[in-house]
This record gives sequence, C-alpha cells and structure tokens, in this order.
Amino acid sequence: MEYECECHGGLVHNDYVYSDRDNNCFKILEDLCKDLYKGFFLVNPWPERRFIINSKASYHGMAALIKDKSGKTNNHGLPIRYSVQCVFLKKTIFKPENFFDGVATYIHELCHMFGGDSSETFSRGLTAAMEIILKNTDTVQKAQKNGWRHSYETNKREPYQISQFLFHQQKDNREKRRLHRGYQMALHQI
Ligand SMILES: [Zn+2]
Repeated sequence: MEYECECHGGLVHNDYVYSDRDNNCFKILEDLCKDLYKGFFLVNPWPERRFIINSKASYHGMAALIKDKSGKTNNHGLPIRYSVQCVFLKKTIFKPENFFDGVATYIHELCHMFGGDSSETFSRGLTAAMEIILKNTDTVQKAQKNGWRHSYETNKREPYQISQFLFHQQKDNREKRRLHRGYQMALHQI
C-alpha cells in the first residue's frame, strides 16, 4: 500500500470512536463527490473513512493507494493509476467554518487516483475537478446548507474558496495559470 500526502507512523488512529456528527460530515463530503464526479472519480468500492486525530499534523488529509494496472481512463481522458482504498481527513476539518477545507481536501485525496502530488496527471485532475465545482456551485452550497454543522451560516463564496484552496495545491505552473483564469472568471459571476 502506498500513501500520498505523506504522514508518519502513529499519527493516524483508526480506533478513534467517531461521533455521529463527524461521521455525518464525512458522509456529506462523500455524497457530494459521488454526485458531482460521476465518471470522473472511478472508485469501486468507495474509499473507507478514516480520521487523523493528531491536531498538530501539518497535512489535512491523506490517501491510501494501491496500484491500478487496468489501464482505465475517466470521462476526461485521465488515466487511473491508483485505486484509493481509504481517505484520511484531519478531525479538525469537521468544524462549522471548515466546510470548504473539507471539500477541497477530500477532492485532493481522490485526485491521487491519477498520480502523486507532483505528477502532471494529478495536476490535470485538480484543474478539472475545480472546473466541475465552479459549474455546480448550487449543489455545493446545498450540501453545506442542508448537512454541514447547522450553526454555520451559508457563505456564497464557499465554492470559490474551494477552488482557491485547490489552486494553492497545484504544483504544475501551466495548470496553475489555467486554474487561476477559471477562478477569476468565476469570481466575476458573483
Ligand atoms: Zn496530496
């Protein structure tokens, strides 16, 4: 098994007793991605849910991967290189104000099916994933409003914050410029 968004032994705890609320928020991220990314993220079965409970961990998420040699490509022509077995998310993501962080991190981890953090295919995956978010801002807002910690007021800019978050993770400069253009255009629309 390989891990992306490298982490060190002992920081991931699978024996953590999840609260219903944390579990529910995790499920909201999963359902949103299942809905938005049909044919884009090829995942079967859907990755298992794991929490990172060390609040000092510098990363927000991690993916456990095994090589996929089937040669499949998704509906954007991106090659599937790995099967994502588990997605780990830092427990601190599950706060009312961290919805966008949760969505962006979850998407980032799923994009590892296309390759490692600095691979070209991973970068292309992030860009396409962001474009899909920007085309579906209503769906994203609905997921936040209807499920994510009720105390938090809906923020219209949230989907754009998700894009910005993905932008900062992009390591490929050409993709970075594309993302930036898409983001600027989307901002003009609100
Ligand atoms: Zn990563």
